[in-house]
Amino acid sequence: MAHLDVKSFAHGEWIAPGAGARHIADAVTGEVFASAGNDALDVAAMWDYARARGGSALRAMGFHDRAKMLKALATYLNERKEALYQLSYRTGATLADSKIDIDGGIGTMFVFASKGRREMPDGQVYLDGEVEQLSRNGSFLGQHICTPLHGVAVHINAFNFPVWGMLEKLAPTLLAGVPAIVKPATASCYVTEACVRQIVESGILPEGAVQLVTGGTGDLLDRLDCQDVVSFTGSAETAFKLRSSEHLMRNAVRFVAEQDSLNASILGPDAAPGTPEFDLLVKEVHREMTAKAGQKCTAIRRVFVPEAHVDAVIAAVSDRLAKTVIGAPALETTRMGALVSAAQKRDVLEKVAVLATEAERVFGDPDAFDVTGADGAKGAFLPPMLLHCANPDNAARIHDTEAFGPVSTIMGYRDLDHAIDLVNKGGGSLVASVITHDPDVAREVALGAGPFHGRLYFNNRDSMGESTGHGSPLPHMVHGGPGRAGGGEEMGGVRGVMHYMQRTAIQGSPDILTGIGGIWVPGAVEVEGPAHPFTRAFGDLEIGETIHTGEREVTLEDIETFAHFTGDTFYAHMDHDAAARNPFFPGRVAHGYLLLSFAAGLFVEPDEGPVLANTGLESLRFLKPVEPGAKVKVRLTVKKKTRRTEAYGEVRWHVSLTDQEDDLVGEYVLLTMNAY
Ligand code: NAP
Repeated sequence: MAHLDVKSFAHGEWIAPGAGARHIADAVTGEVFASAGNDALDVAAMWDYARARGGSALRAMGFHDRAKMLKALATYLNERKEALYQLSYRTGATLADSKIDIDGGIGTMFVFASKGRREMPDGQVYLDGEVEQLSRNGSFLGQHICTPLHGVAVHINAFNFPVWGMLEKLAPTLLAGVPAIVKPATASCYVTEACVRQIVESGILPEGAVQLVTGGTGDLLDRLDCQDVVSFTGSAETAFKLRSSEHLMRNAVRFVAEQDSLNASILGPDAAPGTPEFDLLVKEVHREMTAKAGQKCTAIRRVFVPEAHVDAVIAAVSDRLAKTVIGAPALETTRMGALVSAAQKRDVLEKVAVLATEAERVFGDPDAFDVTGADGAKGAFLPPMLLHCANPDNAARIHDTEAFGPVSTIMGYRDLDHAIDLVNKGGGSLVASVITHDPDVAREVALGAGPFHGRLYFNNRDSMGESTGHGSPLPHMVHGGPGRAGGGEEMGGVRGVMHYMQRTAIQGSPDILTGIGGIWVPGAVEVEGPAHPFTRAFGDLEIGETIHTGEREVTLEDIETFAHFTGDTFYAHMDHDAAARNPFFPGRVAHGYLLLSFAAGLFVEPDEGPVLANTGLESLRFLKPVEPGAKVKVRLTVKKKTRRTEAYGEVRWHVSLTDQEDDLVGEYVLLTMNAY
């Protein structure tokens, strides 16, 4: 194969490697086949271009437009995965490994596309939380809003996930409305470059939304300001070096760090050999040691098992490891491929030597193992290595040294408190798994180890059929961890989008809040429409459009009829004395559900029209008991509109129910689907 020039994509142009380029070797053959990096790359121009072109184009769109863009992009990439799999073999990854990386990245983008449509507004301002009442009469209110930063997200990624690492950050960044400059790790940047080529060729993103730096970043980080974000994934050492730069600290540039972590798995005290949980732990440990040849930030590095079961766990894990075929990643029979580079292999061996000062190697000899279909001396192959540390209380390196390869250490614990103490010695981790069928064990670990972990993964016989795996960060759930893991957090649905937006506290009158947020706030102007709002098409309805209904008396007969018709003969509606003994009621009162039904009867326009369906109620509160003889009336106001399809959209109506004294007796948000 001809030498591969891995280019950067800067200000709309592909820039070939030049002075200062680094060589890249094939993980399987050791042959240098590519180079990347160019000292002459104009990073200042890239930064300007991202802000001037990408940022303004993305911010002109709303969240839903950007979510649709992500869906189109994910669909486009999904149809072109094969080319990426082929290239990915050169990183040492098997097809199964590549699926974690490539399909996992595309899947993450699909999830953000869907969350953007379902959980974010069809507009440009994201409202964070409810309106806060800041004054007695409601003429001065508060609300938190989030708007996209005006800068650039600089994504610096680790070598082990050249595609997922890029897409899991790009999806929330673009959804927020912020352009990105992606800097993949040099060792596997050729796979990222191929994916960026597909992104550019798709023409789906606006110009300047994504740029790529292969090789060094020059002085890019020294240009960033409060509108930019650095999102770093890699080793704790590099994270420390970059985040402690004087420029970044002086300018309080946001720095999200996902770094290495001494993740752990605990076999619950209830899980003896012979239980499904015991087998499950063995399976999870084996998978985490061998998938991506152990080069996963979330891989299980430390395994804590009841002291009585240490030997049984070592035997069962070793048994599985012995059956694991190591070899050329493209072979179907291969279960574990190569590490990414000779340098990475050297690093793992050095770290294993450090661990060996406190632990004994009980499986895997780096000097004697079989490699199928490749030259083990030339490629960056290693066998899985299982260690046993007999005295974890006095060990230090076991809890702080990450061998970023197929390496794990088994340790015994006396009781659950001991296990929690040991697991927390990692000093903050991305994930700990607990294999237990006992909810009390789970609760104790959640309380004892939760503050030290970004994710706790519980698994047992009930969930194992559908569980997603200890090592898989999911776009719906936060990924990150305290302390050693970097103190950062990514993904977690809309939470992950927030890293690229500024949260601003807004204070003002109801009209001001309605104007900014695009959602009607009680107290804001009520708009009088030309006709009943149920007769008005989705596109014509205005935010704030309101009707006030006439009154309806609630009689004792109504209450009794409703009680017998529905079967809801709860004493508060049927028995005066019993109701009066209740601290909330003066005597018999109307059912809340009766009031809701009467409210609908008051505001509904019965003829066929643009309202297609009632899809729900939210935030329902009953505030004042309604006694027989009371008169109720309704105010119905268009609170929010969200396009769903070309044919219809969702309307949220603010409904308030008042009595003859104008006291609020109930309040809720009604959801309907309305035709255009
Ligand atoms: P690394 O050596 O720390 O490198 C990480 C990234 O930083 C690479 O893109 C690297 O580029 C870049 N970099 C290094 N020095 C830089 C500088 N002065 N300026 C700008 N960029 C710089 O880590 P790695 O070897 O790629 O990845 C393995 C580590 O990542 C492991 O420790 C693993 O635990 C961790 N990891 C963590 C997560 C997580 O989500 N928490 C995920 C995956 C991996 P070059 O390659 O060009 O040097």
